[in-house]
Amino acid sequence: MTTDLLVHVEAHARRRPERPFLWTADGVVQSYGDLARLSAALAHALLAAGLRKGDRLVVQVEKTPAIPALYLACLQTGVVFLPLNPAYTLAETLELVADAAPVLILTGTDRAAALDAAGVGDARLLTLTGPGGLLEAANSLPGTFSAPGHSADDLAAILYTSGTTGRSKGVMLTRGNLASNAEALADLWRFGEGDVLLHALPVFHTHGLFVATNTTLVAGGAMIWQPGFEAGAVLAALPRATVMMGVPTFYTRLLAHPGLTGAAVAHMRLFISGSAPLSPATFAQWEARTGMPILERYGMTETNMITSNPHDGPRIAGTVGRPLPGVEVRIADPATGAPLQQGEVGRIEVRGPNVFKGYWRLPEKTAEEFTGDGFFVTGDLGAFDAAGYLRIMGREKDLVITGGLNVYPAEVEAALDALPGVAASAVIGVPHPDFGEAVVACLIPAAGAPPDDEGIRAALRDRLAAFKIPKRVIVLDELPRNAMGKVQKAALRAAHAGLFSQGQGQGQGQGQGPG
Ligand code: AMP
Repeated sequence: MTTDLLVHVEAHARRRPERPFLWTADGVVQSYGDLARLSAALAHALLAAGLRKGDRLVVQVEKTPAIPALYLACLQTGVVFLPLNPAYTLAETLELVADAAPVLILTGTDRAAALDAAGVGDARLLTLTGPGGLLEAANSLPGTFSAPGHSADDLAAILYTSGTTGRSKGVMLTRGNLASNAEALADLWRFGEGDVLLHALPVFHTHGLFVATNTTLVAGGAMIWQPGFEAGAVLAALPRATVMMGVPTFYTRLLAHPGLTGAAVAHMRLFISGSAPLSPATFAQWEARTGMPILERYGMTETNMITSNPHDGPRIAGTVGRPLPGVEVRIADPATGAPLQQGEVGRIEVRGPNVFKGYWRLPEKTAEEFTGDGFFVTGDLGAFDAAGYLRIMGREKDLVITGGLNVYPAEVEAALDALPGVAASAVIGVPHPDFGEAVVACLIPAAGAPPDDEGIRAALRDRLAAFKIPKRVIVLDELPRNAMGKVQKAALRAAHAGLFSQGQGQGQGQGQGPG
């Protein structure tokens, strides 16, 4: 049965208050007792600042060790935690603030001044750290707080989607969504009090904020809190950690570092990857180098985690494993909504206690994204294999339809990534006068490999049907990625939209000729 996250935290703080919860890069320890005291004092500070249950608290700050306590203070008071990426421009921030209508915005001094000058309606502005900040106010407030009764359906947080297609939407997550998912993951991944999670992820996104932090909190484990990902710092901390959660780029960057050795990972029991596809090549290289197969899981802001490769049992590269206990996943025909058979590619739909309550102030948009029987339509395409493992084939909007035939980018990317000359790839559809869309590969060559477009296309002929072979291969120094390492395909499509239009068809990109 799902227990509110606060109940877990209180139990750990009561039973073993001296137990470490968080280490900073400077070696400073926050114990479970410290966490309980700080979150209680911050809960009082939030009330003193005028916030009440259901009010939004915008938090746009650099990653600091006070964030978990602040998030717990929100859970105590019922204030809705609303983190924003500090890298957002002022204009982006203003747009989201106008949508969220927060009572308080916590941010840095400079951003607070800029927001103040631009105008943020009735919202108050405060810093988290520094003189006059919320932490300073909390200093003189009581270290205990008796939380009012909360129900599983109450709102805990709003996270804005990255908004790569159209306007960013506020995803309303309930206490029950967060707690049920954290409990399922802690159990599935065998988290315990002895675990030390290396935390180098951002905390404005579901991965670092909820998957990492909540799973640790449920288990009563500890975290090594790094301000961001830096391969050298991560490798230096690994000998004290037992688990790491990362996006695929963490793994590719660590693989490029000479310090990644068997000895560096000797104390680790589990490496987890998610938020973007982990290439089978990276999975294989990691296992060869460390002896450990990365555990890949799949989820999204709206649904928390949906599937996971097993802790005990085979972790299959290129798959995201089976549905979490209590979570239903089905594959439906994108055109008709009819259920598809095992092995058939279709739309991934999800139902369960993990699925969000709706988009903030967008009831019609919410209704559009759910089926009549309550499944959320993820927008991802995938298929189950015979062992019940899910394979993600890409976002529905990234599907390429060329000459009337469907091409799943993930399939072409997997074939490209398996070639020795390719370090990373992204396959997109580009308008084409004859085919409607043409398959185009953007890729980064492997170190030392000369970009050999014709060789690449020839090598694919053994693996893929002719209509799936990229009509062009565009060699790039890097792929555009967001903070979570996801390739921004909309940006690639926009950059290469004119590739096949008249007068631009020749000499652009590389690798001419029909697929
Ligand atoms: P976000 O809401 O930012 O977490 O993005 C969720 C999206 O990331 C999903 O809908 C997928 O398209 C993608 N995603 C997350 N995990 C994986 C994974 N393991 N493999 C492939 N795509 C993933």
